[in-house]
Amino acid sequence: MAQLSDIIENSQKKVLKAKTLVAKGNVIRIYGSAPGKERYSVTGENDTYDTVYDCRKNLWTCSCPNIKNISCSHIIACMIISGRFFQEQTRKSENEEQ
Ligand SMILES: [Zn+2]
Repeated sequence: MAQLSDIIENSQKKVLKAKTLVAKGNVIRIYGSAPGKERYSVTGENDTYDTVYDCRKNLWTCSCPNIKNISCSHIIACMIISGRFFQEQTRKSENEEQ
């Protein structure tokens, strides 16, 4: 079983990786996709992935193989680009206070 410190370290690494993807310009928004959806093309270390945000369901999906109900660095990168990452952070800290 993973220790909490491992999980936190892991997520910090993912955020760092995501910020690097954004800084390198590896995250490109694709316009003209289905209504209610935001589509991004994210070039990772090994491949280019399709990352989609479903505005109605408030749900992110990614075509990379390492996603298991936990957001991957590609999704975090798209969240940063769309400005939702900081919204999520704010929402989380608000929930913690309650
Ligand atoms: Zn991914």
